[in-house]
Amino acid sequence: MTDIESIMSQNKKYAENFTEGNLPPHPSKKIAVLTCMDARISINEALGLKIGEAHIIRNAGGIVTDDALRSLIISHELLGTEHIIVINHTNCGMASFRDEDLQKRISEKYNSNASDIKFHSFSDVEGNTRNQINKIHSSPFLSNITSVRGFIYDVKTGKIKEVEL
Ligand SMILES: [Zn+2]
Repeated sequence: MTDIESIMSQNKKYAENFTEGNLPPHPSKKIAVLTCMDARISINEALGLKIGEAHIIRNAGGIVTDDALRSLIISHELLGTEHIIVINHTNCGMASFRDEDLQKRISEKYNSNASDIKFHSFSDVEGNTRNQINKIHSSPFLSNITSVRGFIYDVKTGKIKEVEL
């Protein structure tokens, strides 16, 4: 069985016992979480968030890109979230390369110019988290958000620690 067939079979079992089909689309905890796509972070489990309770937005690095902002604005404006949590983490792959190097590598490999692709690599995880929070604060469309907080998740211990702003 391939990995894809395996998840299809897992879903069959999941759906057999599924009882949450009548939840409203508005997250009941009014929380939106932006975090990294890292496969080691099981974000709902780590935060004790159940189905229907929060929006989870993920990308490489937990970066407030234009697309993450788009999701956060929709989350707040149309679906009532009031709290944004940005979670970066230890040992993030985004600290293992520099944008220029990856741009050069794939430009050469695929014979196509990648110099305008912004990958948002970083070296300082706390600094990166603060930068993301500043980007959220600088959006006029998120100026009514009740709270924006940043955390670092430790992939070794599973603990989160708040980043001082
Ligand atoms: Zn990461």
